[in-house]
Amino acid sequence: MDNPTAVTGPDPGVIADAAAALDQLGLALSVFDGESRLRLANEAFAAIYRLAPGQVRAGMTLAEIVALREAANTGPAMAARDYVAWRARVAQAAQRFESRVELRDGRSLVIVHQSLPDGGWVSTHEDVTERQRRELQSRQLGWNDPATGLASNAVLAARLEALARPGAEMPVAVLVFDIDRFKSVTQMLGLGLEARETTQALLRQIAERLSKVAGGSALLARLAADRFVLVQTGETQPQAARTAAWAMQQALDAPFEAGGRRLLLHASVGIALAAEYGGVGACLARADLALLRAKSEGGGRIRFYEPEMDAHHHRSQALEMDLRHALENGEFEIHYQPFLDLLTNEIVGFEALARWRHPARGMVPPTDFIPLAEQTGLIEKLGSWVLETACRTVALWPGAPSIAVNLSPVQVRNPMIVATVQEALRRSGLEASRLELEITEGVLLCDGPGSLATLQRLKSLGVRISMDDFGTGYSSLGYLRNFAFDRIKIDRSFVSGLPASRDCAAIVNAILGLGRSLGIAVTAEGVETTDQLERMRQEGCDEAQGYLISRPLPAEQARALLAGRMAQALPA
Ligand code: C2E
Ligand code: MG
Ligand code: MG
Repeated sequence: MDNPTAVTGPDPGVIADAAAALDQLGLALSVFDGESRLRLANEAFAAIYRLAPGQVRAGMTLAEIVALREAANTGPAMAARDYVAWRARVAQAAQRFESRVELRDGRSLVIVHQSLPDGGWVSTHEDVTERQRRELQSRQLGWNDPATGLASNAVLAARLEALARPGAEMPVAVLVFDIDRFKSVTQMLGLGLEARETTQALLRQIAERLSKVAGGSALLARLAADRFVLVQTGETQPQAARTAAWAMQQALDAPFEAGGRRLLLHASVGIALAAEYGGVGACLARADLALLRAKSEGGGRIRFYEPEMDAHHHRSQALEMDLRHALENGEFEIHYQPFLDLLTNEIVGFEALARWRHPARGMVPPTDFIPLAEQTGLIEKLGSWVLETACRTVALWPGAPSIAVNLSPVQVRNPMIVATVQEALRRSGLEASRLELEITEGVLLCDGPGSLATLQRLKSLGVRISMDDFGTGYSSLGYLRNFAFDRIKIDRSFVSGLPASRDCAAIVNAILGLGRSLGIAVTAEGVETTDQLERMRQEGCDEAQGYLISRPLPAEQARALLAGRMAQALPA
């Protein structure tokens, strides 16, 4: 033969050297010949089976070695005879064979078997018990978020803990991402198992896009529902955090597909830097506060943590506690702000504006407590109270003025609002045509057909529906096509720009033109000067509301104002 080693197998000397080398790695090795007798085993082999080095000798059969192992409680978990027969079959059948073998003492080994040309075999034996235990533990602890495959809360906590240890000083930024109005999106996708799966698929798409731009060294984890966290270490801050936040917002820009719909999603981002205001420990909570601020500013924003946010948070938490009792304690009242008919110059109606007289803090503005009431679900009770009180109060006023009540998107999302309105009308005796419900486009945004159907049902009661703060949302125009509004209220930010700002003038004129051609009445909000009032009158606006005409007034004063104007209007 040209090449004798190819027939007889590897040179035993070489194998012995290799076996010694494997000892260094703690990898056990055994070589058997064509007669199933041990040709060679390294020290690690004896060690792995808890045998003394001298016990394992060349020339032993596999069955003899297994007998030694049984005495040392390291025999195979299966019957020894079956094991030996199985190994012999493997030796004949397979070139290379990898198997996992359980031992009597509870350990698991991975044995890789390679046949040799002389009918013998070489095998390596590795104890994988510890690795297996760690894998199992990590699965039980949930190192991975099952829905998205991103790192889980547990990993995030471990990473932050490690970074918070003394001596681990390096720049750390924690970024918290949250999809704006995600709850509305999931509500739109519906209920039931199928909708849940669609939501999970959507979250996976979001996670995929985020991880593409996360950057290799950063940790991306999923905190909860639609909340994701990025931890950056060792980067130049705050630039790196800002860049990552932008990149991730952009990554979400392209429409998503879910349940056969195209969805536009935006994310808000809160960022906390460990170097500022001390330590990694509080970073996640601070990034959360910054996120809260970003969201309260309308979403789609990036905000860095500032210490002032703590104070604000504590204040709003305390306020939330108080809000829960405010209604029972009779701390709410309603102020009424009149609408002026620009053609007749008469007061034709009032808007009901909720006021909270806090026993210690004094008057709390609705811009502070309405969002809080919405978050806590108290808005439904508060809203019903405002609705009924306003209807009752104004029902008895002279001249049958109309009454406008603001509805929060949260109220409209609950179909029960129809019954609530019906009940308020019935109890107060107010004719439906005198009630106007003001909604903002937040009601229609992402809410799909549910809210629209509710608005239709409200309209069929005979009440009117107006769109409040028109022009401040980003798709107000589209909603005019979807629903037959009775009134548009031009947001006061445009009116207050008059007459100086040409842009505001152009927008106001465009809205008035729109109202005329669609046959929708238009009210100008926030009229503060006679200039603005005259301007609105000249441009053909129907009604005006604002401090010039009157500030919101307590019920008695509003009624007196109405009665006084009516008396003035009477011929002398
Ligand atoms: P809104 O519905 O747009 O109400 C108009 C707001 O503009 C009122 O603020 C009013 O006092 C103010 N305003 C009226 N005329 C002028 C003016 O000439 N100049 C200026 N600078 N402001 C003027 P307010 O009472 O603080 O209410 C703020 C918002 O809170 C309301 O905006 C409304 O969205 C909400 N809100 C108030 N009461 C309720 C309620 O009972 N339910 C709900 N869901 N929201 C309410
Ligand atoms: Mg309003
Ligand atoms: Mg408004």
